Amino acid sequence: MQNTDLNAQLFERARRSIPGGVNSPVRAFKAVGGTPRFVKRAQGSCFWDANGKRYIDYIGSWGPMILGHGHPAVVEAVQKAVLEGFSFGAPTEREVELAEELIRLVPSMDMVRLVSSGTEAAMSAIRLARGATGRSKFIKFEGCYHGHADALLVKAGSGLATFGNPTSAGVPPEVVRDTLVLEYNNLAQLEEAFALHGSELACLMIEPIAGNMNFVRASVPFMKRCRELCTQHGVLLVFDEVMTGFRVALGSAQSVYASAIPGFAPDMTVLGKVIGGGMPLAAFGGSRAVMEQLAPLGPVYQAGTLSGNPVATACGLATLREISKPGFFEALAQQTHSLTSGLQKLASGAGVPFSADSEGGMFGFFLMKDLPTNYLQVMKTDSDRFNRVFHGLLDRGVYIAPALYEAGFVSAAHTDQDIAETLDAAAQVFNLL
Ligand SMILES: *Cc1c(COP(=O)(O)O)cnc(C)c1O
Repeated sequence: MQNTDLNAQLFERARRSIPGGVNSPVRAFKAVGGTPRFVKRAQGSCFWDANGKRYIDYIGSWGPMILGHGHPAVVEAVQKAVLEGFSFGAPTEREVELAEELIRLVPSMDMVRLVSSGTEAAMSAIRLARGATGRSKFIKFEGCYHGHADALLVKAGSGLATFGNPTSAGVPPEVVRDTLVLEYNNLAQLEEAFALHGSELACLMIEPIAGNMNFVRASVPFMKRCRELCTQHGVLLVFDEVMTGFRVALGSAQSVYASAIPGFAPDMTVLGKVIGGGMPLAAFGGSRAVMEQLAPLGPVYQAGTLSGNPVATACGLATLREISKPGFFEALAQQTHSLTSGLQKLASGAGVPFSADSEGGMFGFFLMKDLPTNYLQVMKTDSDRFNRVFHGLLDRGVYIAPALYEAGFVSAAHTDQDIAETLDAAAQVFNLL
């Protein structure tokens, strides 16, 4: 019998020419089972799949689409830029404009370098931190994702403050030999790592609000101690704000911590996702002294054919302009909170263990009573139950991340009606659990 599901047909076809049928693994629905939805088009808070079915979109391209899809001001800026040329391999005024805007909004950065993906930005930031300090080792935390550069594909070794093991084939153990993997929010491990290796560390890289183990905040005392230890040992504190940047607040997650810790700022910041508004664009920045170590001024090499692409920068600038308007983040945070508090209420009513958290337009929910504080705790989620929630919502036209260790995103295009429809669907799903 002919399969009439066009998503299934496309998936079957895709698997013949693309490994696993997808160009980024989590899209394949491997964790939750079933057939990935092939997106045909999107507008505002929704997208439509190959069968013409509509979904309320809580992924927003994994964060970039903070204005929703097809925002008229952004579309206009991109259309105008396209007519002026796709790529030149020579500098443009728009790159300067975007750099100036990023520095204005994130004052911990004096200078930025534009690149094309978050992976590239995080990888380059580590090279720069190593080059600027003359040290090789660095700290990352279990459950934080900083892109797929070799030195970052690592999990904790056995024992406290030991160096890690590769998590991917093709990464030689010697490449992760200098990557120290610690538990998120674990003060004792942090102290021990600095006591043992403080003078050998180039940087500590952290997602301040982790969005790659669902949604887990670094506690204020933990972040404060990270800052103190880095300063004390001459280690660069690198905030990976690829996800949180311009998503949780206009000043990004660092502004959230600065409001709790007077004078707080990271030494370097990695950005991506929202700053491209859906086009391939990312950046890393920091103090003038550190950034001037980069080629062509300094000895740390870094380059890119499409870096600062004129169409991507137009898209990013138009997006930043919209989110800079007064009241934007207050309204976004409120809408996001109305979703998470609504879900919380429904779950309580249905007797489903549940907790949720959000900041700005980023949220996470857990099918457990208390919010987790690290990766191990996140992984204690009942994954069968999560998969039933995921498919229940999907069937009812609500698209959340197809894996329990991913955050969710609300855009400025999500209406009260969208939230009400989502809560209706969730009520049905929770009652079936
Ligand atoms: C998405 C993400 C990256 C990687 O960005 P890509 O553009 O997918 O390469 C890095 N760090 C964090 C925190 C991210 O969320």
